[in-house]
Amino acid sequence: MSNVAQHDNHSSDDSSRITRREMLTRTLSTGMALAAGSLITSASAPEARAAALPEQLAPPLSEPGGIVAVGYAAAGSTAPLEEFHFQRRGLRPNDVQLEILYCGVCHSDVHTVRNEWHGTSYPCIPGHEIVGRVKAVGANVTRFKTGDIGGVGCLVDSCGECASCKAGLEQYCLHGATGTYNSPEKGTGYTTFGGYSNTVVVTESFVIRIPAGMDLKATAPLLCAGITTFSPLRHWKVTPGQRVGVVGVGGLGHVAIKLAKAQGAHVVMFTSTPAKLADAARLGADEAVLETDEAAYRRMAVSFDFLLTTIPQSFDTNPYIRLLKVDGILVNVGALEPLEPGIDNRQVAGMRRTVAGSLIGGIAETQEVIDFCAAHKLQADVEVIPIHEINAAYERMIHSDVRYRFVIDMNSLSKG
Ligand SMILES: [Zn+2]
Ligand SMILES: [Zn+2]
Repeated sequence: MSNVAQHDNHSSDDSSRITRREMLTRTLSTGMALAAGSLITSASAPEARAAALPEQLAPPLSEPGGIVAVGYAAAGSTAPLEEFHFQRRGLRPNDVQLEILYCGVCHSDVHTVRNEWHGTSYPCIPGHEIVGRVKAVGANVTRFKTGDIGGVGCLVDSCGECASCKAGLEQYCLHGATGTYNSPEKGTGYTTFGGYSNTVVVTESFVIRIPAGMDLKATAPLLCAGITTFSPLRHWKVTPGQRVGVVGVGGLGHVAIKLAKAQGAHVVMFTSTPAKLADAARLGADEAVLETDEAAYRRMAVSFDFLLTTIPQSFDTNPYIRLLKVDGILVNVGALEPLEPGIDNRQVAGMRRTVAGSLIGGIAETQEVIDFCAAHKLQADVEVIPIHEINAAYERMIHSDVRYRFVIDMNSLSKG
């Protein structure tokens, strides 16, 4: 890939645009706005560019007032991530610029880079578990000053006006929240670039305060994996003493076990990886079950108040639904695609069970999980990597070969 921002539009023919429009409609209706490709053409973008490029891409390196940046981008769905030079927007009055220190590696990054959810704009810089040091602030910023530590999770903007936004549920913004990457940036229409980079510019209200004393590299994953699992535990009011199962012990699952335990639940972890059973006690699980242990599934039938499934692709939920008590709840936060072979409603209706889904969390709740983790001295288990190992890390993550979250040390990035 060339090392400058390009306007190579990989999907500008009419049929793919229709697909993307359908995708946006579908994602808005299902709350999957994060996966939506860039479709909105900003009114402020030059007419000519809007006409030539119906899908807004990277800003040119010559953008006036822009901030020179370097990161790792993929040029297409089968391309590796490589060093890429680009610009961030210049600081607006309410903006905070972070020098990125660490960025966690989420399964969503792989899904997006490889266009597995469709609608990816290239070049694509993923990363939405960002911790950094404030480098500059706009004139109206009051909550941050230069040198402070801040975090950025999955969202960098939303409409601020709709019922969801007013309820602090920016992730369910009825006009489509702006994802930290692969979303149209408000005001420019350019596709947002994520945290696999040296710096990021974000509206103050979307920057999370990181309390002093937290291990920054192990805090980064809390900004997606943490909030994604914390939000459903809070929303469905998991209480001390309840039996909670966490299905899938990866980046999300291992944090979910710690969060549920810290909230006083009796936690059972379910894994398909025998080697992970040995980590159960250290993670805080009271019991651990291997996916192939059918006797355990029979023994545990109708025994759980709450199940959180974190498997990042389609899987059969029915063996888990059968584990729920009367009125028990299963919340899927992993897969964002149709679950095969479907849900057996005899099992759901037969015990008045609930099968639900949940997507990340709002900004206030993201602050809440960070503060909760600071108070409980809770953090992710991380393997820190230099950024040039990111492509190998993707392969290892897909094969469950990480304990439990890769985090990129952004010091390893060239200084541009
Ligand atoms: Zn994520
Ligand atoms: Zn909104």
